[in-house]
Amino acid sequence: MQCIETRGNDGRRPHQVSFSEAMLNPVASFGGLYVPARLPRLPEGFLTQQLHADYASLASAVLDLYQLDIPAEVLHQALARYTQFDDPQSPIPVHQLADNLFVNELYHGPTRAFKDIALQPFGALLSHLAATRQEQFLVLAATSGDTGPATLHAFRHCPWVKVVCLYPVGGTSDVQRLQMVTETAPNLCVLGIHGDFDDTQNALKALLSSDTFQAQLARRNTRLSAANSVNIGRIMFQQIYHIAAYLSLVRRGTLQLGESININVPSGNFGNALGAYYARKLGLPIDRILIASNQNNVLTDFIRTGRYDLRQRQVINTHAPAMDILISSNIERLLFDLFGPERTRTLMSALTQERHYALDAQELTQLQAIFAADFATDAEVRTYMHDVFSQGYVIDPHTATSFGIQHPADRNIPTVICATAEWTKFSPTLATALLQTPGLSDAEALRQVAAATNQPVPAQIADIFHRPVQHKMQISPDAIEAAILDFL
Ligand SMILES: *Cc1c(COP(=O)(O)O)cnc(C)c1O
Repeated sequence: MQCIETRGNDGRRPHQVSFSEAMLNPVASFGGLYVPARLPRLPEGFLTQQLHADYASLASAVLDLYQLDIPAEVLHQALARYTQFDDPQSPIPVHQLADNLFVNELYHGPTRAFKDIALQPFGALLSHLAATRQEQFLVLAATSGDTGPATLHAFRHCPWVKVVCLYPVGGTSDVQRLQMVTETAPNLCVLGIHGDFDDTQNALKALLSSDTFQAQLARRNTRLSAANSVNIGRIMFQQIYHIAAYLSLVRRGTLQLGESININVPSGNFGNALGAYYARKLGLPIDRILIASNQNNVLTDFIRTGRYDLRQRQVINTHAPAMDILISSNIERLLFDLFGPERTRTLMSALTQERHYALDAQELTQLQAIFAADFATDAEVRTYMHDVFSQGYVIDPHTATSFGIQHPADRNIPTVICATAEWTKFSPTLATALLQTPGLSDAEALRQVAAATNQPVPAQIADIFHRPVQHKMQISPDAIEAAILDFL
């Protein structure tokens, strides 16, 4: 697979780069992102052949279609990381909630959020590439709560790779913060940043494209990469579970092969939803992709009106912090796929310079043929968690945002909601919604909610409260560069 750039080429970089090059160096011309030069199609009979495949086999069959420049045995080892999930045979189980409503439980990995699904194999691939090149890499991650723990875990003790993880102070749950700051591997560094997630992500983007920072790294024989979903390496692994969910519905007899599903995705940076979009382009029968937001509902407005407008907006802290995002990076890849590189460059520079852009009527029609969107307020999130629990099922606040979406078209089409995190990462919100006991600490809320709902708290979460804090540094965005160089 070759990768091309969403904003076209500036003449200073090659017109196409290999997948591994795009993964190692994710900055493209004009500040764009890398995308596959061509999306493959599922060959005739593919879904029938894969109907009973286990997850790792399905994943390698899908990735084979892309012809990544990664040796087969390395890919195999990367996918073997799924053996750390609760059930190695079925790392991503699908739960049926009602006749036509399913939940794709994406959170059974080591850090209890869906980020593990992509970051675990991504970590294995990047480590392999660094080791074969004998080059030292620095992976920078900005996190609104779940990318950080998942990235740190994925690179623990990897030779040739160091990780610096930036999180907004006060912008994550206690569990998420403890997952990061109690990491002990010496190749990992965690920095609290005074600011919100967009400030943190912007600081990261500025560093990724800073020539002086690059020069400092070059002096230390270190190359820079990024683990955010701006990295195409992550998107590759985020298509597969949508296909796996589809096959699971066929195996249960809910669907005949060829019939459609809707996929409903709690969205922030739009990586998960882009994975569904690519799966649809591969030929998976997806009718609509439903985009759920919290009160930071810039995507709801965009999909309903064609206007992406940041002018009247500030990030609001909500019950679903991993979705407290206004600049949704992977929308750019969607714009590219629908409207091409020139239009993408125009729209993205309008967003940077004027803080808004608008699609024309025809473009909006194209977008709405595929996507629909809605959002949930915090009060609605609590109601949905409560209502779903009264049916005997526990969801986290991010997943809850998906329950507000009115099905746009045919109610007979089964819908698969992506459950993006386990409730254990956000237990105080659960305690408020289910038990009407607000204000508890994470530890106490975990205990009470687990007892009231009869849900287990996995060891990965229970253990972090007993570990010493290793990473205490909290700094302003302009001190990040120095702190990183210090760590290196
Ligand atoms: C990252 C994350 C999201 C948002 O996913 P995107 O791919 O960035 O849209 C939603 N929920 C949870 C729990 C997450 O960790």
